[in-house]
Amino acid sequence: MLKANLCGIRERIASVCSKINREPESITIVAVCKNRTVEEIREAIAVGITDIGENKVQEAIAKYNKLSAVSCQLSASKWHMVGHLQSNKVKQAVKIFDLIHSVDSLKLAEGINRQAESFAKVQDILLEVNTSGEASKYGLRPQETIGVIKGLAGFKNLNIKGLMTIAPIVDNPEDARPYFKSLRELRDKINNLRLITYDLQLSMGMSDDFEAAIEEGADIVRLGRAIFE
Ligand SMILES: *Cc1c(COP(=O)(O)O)cnc(C)c1O
Repeated sequence: MLKANLCGIRERIASVCSKINREPESITIVAVCKNRTVEEIREAIAVGITDIGENKVQEAIAKYNKLSAVSCQLSASKWHMVGHLQSNKVKQAVKIFDLIHSVDSLKLAEGINRQAESFAKVQDILLEVNTSGEASKYGLRPQETIGVIKGLAGFKNLNIKGLMTIAPIVDNPEDARPYFKSLRELRDKINNLRLITYDLQLSMGMSDDFEAAIEEGADIVRLGRAIFE
């Protein structure tokens, strides 16, 4: 089932990419494994998943350790922290995650930088932006994002890879599109200011709306149910 799901997802990504002239291989699929078992993650890796997403540090560490013990494929996979990161979990997060999607304050970034320095690591991060303005969501306000990027300029152990957003839950995926578009526009604005010398990536789109997200410029989609259910 997992294999068929993934095949179906890849076909849908290829079909969107052909419309917008992008290579399907340029889209990273992060399999969001919260609430999935270690066996399910192993199965996902076996059918070609290379990027594992978790939203709780504790749960991620437990699974990571179990997988390290049993799977020689683990070293090939990249781990993504997609959930809110509490400052008291930073140390453990920096230990295992290749990319932290949820950096939403200068203070958190500072903590990650300090921890990464002590591990002699350069930590890849995304800045989470609350594009919908919903009070229930974490993330920087769009208008404060550029200030935060400027504030991070001196942080030698952080590498800002891009921006992330979580669109509101809507019945029609088209209704999520404006939030994806606004993240892309913010990215373009940052690029135009030449604050960063490379193109920032966009992490946006989940099981119900990843096609709209890719059309609006997503580089990374975060898929849970579409893969596992
Ligand atoms: C759970 C989760 C996802 C995946 O959600 P699905 O709707 O199951 O695809 C993506 N991103 C974040 C931040 C999540 O918490």
